[in-house]
Amino acid sequence: MHACRSAALCLTFAAISCASLSSQTSTTAPITPTTGAAQQGRVESEASRTPPARRVILFIWDGLRPDAIDPQITPRLAALRDAIGVDFRHHHSVYPTFTMMNAAAFATGARSGFHGFYGNTEYLPGLSGTDAKGKAVDYAQPFFTEDHAILQSIDAFYRARGSALLRMQSLFEAAHAAGLTTAAIGKVGPVFLQDYRQDGSTGVILDEDFAWPRDFALRLQAAGRPLPRNVQHHAYPEGSIQLAPDNGDPTAPVPAHHVTLADGVTPDPRATSGSQHKARNTYLMHTFLEYVLPQRDPALSVIWLRDPDSTEHSYGPGTPNVVDALRHQDKLLGELLDTLKNSGRASSTDVLIASDHGHSTVGSDPQIFPLRALHGEPDGHGTLGEISAGGYIASGNVRSAEWLRHAGFAHVYDGQGCMFDPVLAGVDNTGHVLHEPHASSECGALKHSTTPAYRVPNPEQLRTTRDAIVIAANGGSEYFYVPSQDLQLVKRLVSTLQEHRAYGPIFVRSVYGTLPGTFSLEHIGMERPESVSPPTPDVVVSFDWDDAAISGAAPTTPGRIQASPRDNRGTHGSFSPIDVHNTLIATGPDFRAGFADDYPSSNLDVAPTIAALFGLALPQAEGRVLSEALGQGTTGYRVEAFEEHAGPVPLARTCELHDLDCTRPVKGLSYSVTLYGHRLTSADGSHHYIYFDKAKAIRAPK
Ligand SMILES: [Zn+2]
Repeated sequence: MHACRSAALCLTFAAISCASLSSQTSTTAPITPTTGAAQQGRVESEASRTPPARRVILFIWDGLRPDAIDPQITPRLAALRDAIGVDFRHHHSVYPTFTMMNAAAFATGARSGFHGFYGNTEYLPGLSGTDAKGKAVDYAQPFFTEDHAILQSIDAFYRARGSALLRMQSLFEAAHAAGLTTAAIGKVGPVFLQDYRQDGSTGVILDEDFAWPRDFALRLQAAGRPLPRNVQHHAYPEGSIQLAPDNGDPTAPVPAHHVTLADGVTPDPRATSGSQHKARNTYLMHTFLEYVLPQRDPALSVIWLRDPDSTEHSYGPGTPNVVDALRHQDKLLGELLDTLKNSGRASSTDVLIASDHGHSTVGSDPQIFPLRALHGEPDGHGTLGEISAGGYIASGNVRSAEWLRHAGFAHVYDGQGCMFDPVLAGVDNTGHVLHEPHASSECGALKHSTTPAYRVPNPEQLRTTRDAIVIAANGGSEYFYVPSQDLQLVKRLVSTLQEHRAYGPIFVRSVYGTLPGTFSLEHIGMERPESVSPPTPDVVVSFDWDDAAISGAAPTTPGRIQASPRDNRGTHGSFSPIDVHNTLIATGPDFRAGFADDYPSSNLDVAPTIAALFGLALPQAEGRVLSEALGQGTTGYRVEAFEEHAGPVPLARTCELHDLDCTRPVKGLSYSVTLYGHRLTSADGSHHYIYFDKAKAIRAPK
């Protein structure tokens, strides 16, 4: 395997800053719920806690590209990067570069081969339960895991089988076992995953749907603070929570919808209406700064905010509304740093600012789907116009179920209903829309559709369909599940993906052997020999990418990927270096000042490093302690670049991006993949760590 465990290094740093484990005291007696406003000014301190000897705050800016940090737009973060803290200049997201995959990496220091979790969108039939709104979830379909109730359903499923949602100890579990107080605050999904076992009597969780424990929620209410509306749907063991009449909806996006073209679905990248997520991010950060920090003074906090990612999804990286999101994130960072300083905590608090992944613009090859002008005001009335060299993207979405059906796969499902995607599915040189919109009587409220529903049939029907394929569409990469585990079907699927230009590198479960032109999932840390499908996908494919491409929407922000359709101008999840290369910056008493770290580092390394700051070990983690960035670190590593190759495989045909039925195939090409990375070896040669930088598929003349 590719990475050694780093318990020895953890122990090296055990002496740095052991938190005082005897300083934690129990909370005061429970309080009764009251309406918020009436209670303002009557809030009691939860406990007279002794401050922790060391605090660590991990502040995630979801989807923050390193090149988005700018002295004019994000001055506080730029100052940390350039002068005050440590800039990890060669930082890596874990592939597939999804949010939840990297949330699990932050939680455990490991990849899915170890922890066994595959979100964002996972396929795991057999679950039951509701979502955060209290609605039953159809687990026959692939499902989105950014929801605490869904994560609890997954965990309950595994617990009944003697396992857990994450098959290894998390950083928060290690912290709780050592008696440290914790807080997990922010975006639904990744925040709950940090503390999903809720095993700490001194841990609190506040995300956009949920507050835990109930006593904490009631205390927030008593302090006059609103609660996420969906707490009223959560079945707390002690009884449900009634919202105060003036609670409002503090975690709603404002406005509720992003700005589209006149078609009602295609986002308008020119819009200057601002990020929709500022109010809820302010609520979450202010609740931390004004209540959680003074009242609970947690030793370990994760604050995970959905900007710039959510705004990048809507409008694309580098667009005006994303700049607005970045400015607001930096304002909240400034409030965090100033509060730590003004409350006397800065000298005992390490702050790590990270992103889970980079972010790319959704788009396809402009030779086939040229850039086009946009006309009309960017206020919901914009329309797609003529071909224009400096124009906007009108392509990039690839509905794999539709492509595979056209390629002859009769029983392929992605769990999605009808879609109406009149621009980003692709408008070619002649103005022809790849999937022509048509009136659709079978699509319910959707009056027009461009692709039909591909719902997974009932389990009995699925079991008897030998050629069924289920797709968990995940943005920049797709998961394919082959319920029959039929090797010939897997081979046919892989060959078809290799023949279609939209798809890039392919990874296959080891049980199918080495298929030409592919790497195994085990090779990139996504499976272990005992892994089963589902949830381990049978085939994972990254969409093709161009890390240098730009368009009129963001002329100085390069990077384009094709992606599964979600009404997005931006997404991530691919093996493009733009998605893989993400952000880590650290500051505080344990970190060097004004230090640029050129060793490769990864999201896998964050949990082991934080554990070391507390004198804790994470013996199951794959990542390393980033010792070179710590004040007392003197580690010398050897770093070597490597390339690994799969293929070439001769292709019977190559199907163009706008040729749905492959009626005009290109002949005489072969397909090959190169996987690029860096290998880091400890000075004594005993520890090795692998960092994957990118993977690219090439179709070239034989
Ligand atoms: Zn993310």
